[in-house]
Amino acid sequence: MAIERTLSILKPDATRRNLTGSINKVFEEAGLSILAQKRIQLTRAEAEAFYAVHKERGFFNDLVGYMISGPVVAQVLSGENAVAKNRELMGATDPKKATEGTIRAMFAESIEANSVHGSDSAENAKNEISFFFAEIDIVG
Ligand code: ATP
Ligand code: MG
Repeated sequence: MAIERTLSILKPDATRRNLTGSINKVFEEAGLSILAQKRIQLTRAEAEAFYAVHKERGFFNDLVGYMISGPVVAQVLSGENAVAKNRELMGATDPKKATEGTIRAMFAESIEANSVHGSDSAENAKNEISFFFAEIDIVG
């Protein structure tokens, strides 16, 4: 299996409850390394651009409002099969449907305030990483 990179975001519900360390522990214990990390306040335009794929969905405006309701932590994770592994660690979008032990089962508040984002393909990972980080910021 190849070593991959994926983009992770700890969402405002996670930063508000001081869960950065608890969630990072899940990643690190599963063998994912944090190669870059920054805590930022997204602007509305940035959140709209990041979630542009969802702009036709009914929840888009609420989602953008939620993503700018507080700071987020953007991070680059690396490891074997990192894209799929992170999705597995995150659990289902709706925490009520998430497998026990996953980040969303343990920490998410709702289908919207679900604590984490993770890229869903290697190609999206590449684009999402470059949305937040320059190559010089990513230290392997
Ligand atoms: P993410 O892209 O954040 O990693 P995901 O891939 O599991 O999550 P998507 O379908 O891409 O889920 O939806 C993006 C985000 O939009 C979700 O993580 C959640 O915050 C929000 N969302 C998704 N479905 C709903 C919904 N039905 N109602 C409200 N918010 C939703
Ligand atoms: Mg998604």
